[in-house]
Amino acid sequence: MDLDDFCRRQSQAVAEFNQHEQRSDGLRVATSLCAGLGLLRDSLFIRMHEDVERVLGRDSMLMPVSEIKAQRLTKIEIEVYQIVESGVAAGEFGYTGATEWFVEWLCRLRLAADQVTPAARKGLAQYLSLSPEKRVARFEGALAKILPESTRAPLVLFRLFPLCVQIATALAFGDHGRAPSLRNAQAAVLPAIVDCRKCRGRVLENGESCPGCGNPLWKFSWLTSVD
Ligand SMILES: [Zn+2]
Repeated sequence: MDLDDFCRRQSQAVAEFNQHEQRSDGLRVATSLCAGLGLLRDSLFIRMHEDVERVLGRDSMLMPVSEIKAQRLTKIEIEVYQIVESGVAAGEFGYTGATEWFVEWLCRLRLAADQVTPAARKGLAQYLSLSPEKRVARFEGALAKILPESTRAPLVLFRLFPLCVQIATALAFGDHGRAPSLRNAQAAVLPAIVDCRKCRGRVLENGESCPGCGNPLWKFSWLTSVD
């Protein structure tokens, strides 16, 4: 990543956010959201790629032609999905009155100009037009094409992930009431997450993760635990 480019994008985005949203805490919101979404993107990639190969073994039939290309495309696809999921959450939870503006804003913050490919643009528009269930289904379908081994990851990963993005968004806006109720919704999907001796499944600040269970995106052994 070009750090200068990222810093320039971030300071522009902060100024734009403060002006459009009539707020003064754009730096805090943008920094927190980037820390949360960056960690989720990288963790999801690890769960779908390295963990699948480590735990289930490498399936030569499913190896992508170019790992580097697959990684780059996968991370863009995750960003695009997260941008829309976060934007919809920001609108629904009342953090912004302008969901589509927020999505565009987050796109400028999270993606470099050369990452906003025609395919990424198309993905953004499609995700925005879909229901939450269809959005995650499209996400899984897009990942399966780019990173075939993602289809071997535990299905529960894709039930937890939208809520992970919503929690990161709530935390970025300092909504400490909503974040734990979203975590409870995750515990209803995967009860084992509250059993971690280190974090007890509590909501961690954006950018923090639990070395025990992987919270905010649980390690493979936790995803596959059955009560
Ligand atoms: Zn933990």
